[in-house]
Amino acid sequence: MTIEVPGPDHAHVHASGATFLRQDPATGEPVAEVRASTPEDVDAAVRRAQGAFEEGSWAADGAARARALTRFAEALRAEKEPLARLLVREQGKTIREARGEIEGSADMTEYYAGLARAVYGRSVQLARDVHGVIVREPVGVVAVITPWNWPVTLLVRSLAPALAAGNACVVKPASLTSAITVRVLDLLARAGELPDGVVTCVLGPGATVGEALVAHPGVDMVAFTGETTTGTRVMQRAAEGLRRVALELGGKSPNLIFADADLDKAVEGAVNAAFTTSGQICTAGSRILVERPVHDEFLDRFAEAVRALRLGPGMDERSDLGPLVSEGQRQRVLDYVELGRKEGTVLVGGTIPTDPALAQGHFVEPTVVIELPPGSPLLREEIFGPVATVEVFDHEEEAIRLANDTDYGLASGLWTSDLNRAWRVGRALRAGTVWVNTYHHFYPEAEVGGFKRSGIGRQQGVEGLFEFTETKHLNFDGSPTLW
Ligand code: NDP
Repeated sequence: MTIEVPGPDHAHVHASGATFLRQDPATGEPVAEVRASTPEDVDAAVRRAQGAFEEGSWAADGAARARALTRFAEALRAEKEPLARLLVREQGKTIREARGEIEGSADMTEYYAGLARAVYGRSVQLARDVHGVIVREPVGVVAVITPWNWPVTLLVRSLAPALAAGNACVVKPASLTSAITVRVLDLLARAGELPDGVVTCVLGPGATVGEALVAHPGVDMVAFTGETTTGTRVMQRAAEGLRRVALELGGKSPNLIFADADLDKAVEGAVNAAFTTSGQICTAGSRILVERPVHDEFLDRFAEAVRALRLGPGMDERSDLGPLVSEGQRQRVLDYVELGRKEGTVLVGGTIPTDPALAQGHFVEPTVVIELPPGSPLLREEIFGPVATVEVFDHEEEAIRLANDTDYGLASGLWTSDLNRAWRVGRALRAGTVWVNTYHHFYPEAEVGGFKRSGIGRQQGVEGLFEFTETKHLNFDGSPTLW
């Protein structure tokens, strides 16, 4: 059944333009007919958010914000299965991952529901009879622009702290995942009983609708998650209005396997790091570096584990990997694999599956490429697909140098049984997250974000809340000498 987006009851969505079709990446079947927003819709959505913010009651009442977010989290949990199924149909990921995404989003929302009542400031005595009170206030209207790979998590990761801090938000999801986003915002509006206009939504292409939102004078801040080139463009447009930005961008994350690592765990962890969401995850540990004494054994076992992965429709409970999100994304990945064939050796996969049951979907076999020359684009650029590369290193300093030889700095992993090494290497890696003997575990309490071209600012944790606040000094002087 094709869903109409927005449906007749979606009062918070401003979309009155032309429609476009979203098809299931596994089967090609239509999933949603999405109506895009016009420039007038963008203007109306921002003005409505401005009105809600300026009215003042949302920003003033932390307890009300906490209750709204708590009810939203409960609604996410109650609706987990239908939401997960829609997520699979629209995005293509496996149903197990989709359930985890909804659970994780509820968890994140609960965390920020707690913090909504704890937007504490500080006070300091500055002189006799002089006191400074430092308070945190919401920024105002926040544009939340999200990508398609983890559309619920990455929506909630910006939206929940922005709301907890007392802002009003205008959401612009990736066109590819408009239906799931609108469904989630619907739950928020209904369960959270939000004041009118505190959250509005616009739909349609980033190049028009996204740009209009970023450039709108009523927007005070842009929280953007997406590719580095798009993020750069967003920052340029935001700079014209001197608007604040929080940028969560691309990555090319190294995963270092030292000879003293527990190889069973390292192999399993490396598969998870590289092939979660079919590699379409910003933190993908797609660049594996292995210390020479265990390189051959690791490679044999890793290749065997990758060959055993089950490619299939996300809706099939047995699938380990689903399709890529679109035909364009598949072609981009296949182009990289072709280059890998020229520059190195494709050890595993690298092809489209021959199973006729998968013929209508955007599937690519999980792929391992080795023997690439230094500087190869496969080692430096974000592929965003099921492609892992494996390289060798001889000592710790070389591992650190190779790992840091990237424009990005989002995440990295390291596998060792030497605690001192874990500490040394963990501190030396230039990345916002370093996983030690694990990978891809995220916690609402712990900040994430990028060094270098992976972003500006931090999400999650307390810093993720502060990101959406302005700091104000209120100065009290009992006996002022004015001049
Ligand atoms: P894009 O940068 O293509 O798009 C992200 C969002 O920005 C979409 O909503 C898109 O709309 C919109 N957009 C596109 N152009 C503009 C513009 N000029 N102005 C304003 N908005 C615009 O990223 P993808 O959706 O392809 O997501 C994949 C990328 O996201 C990868 O690089 C990945 O690493 C990164 N990412 C980073 C994360 C992090 O935490 N650091 C987490 C997850 C992903 P539309 O699609 O409708 O055109």
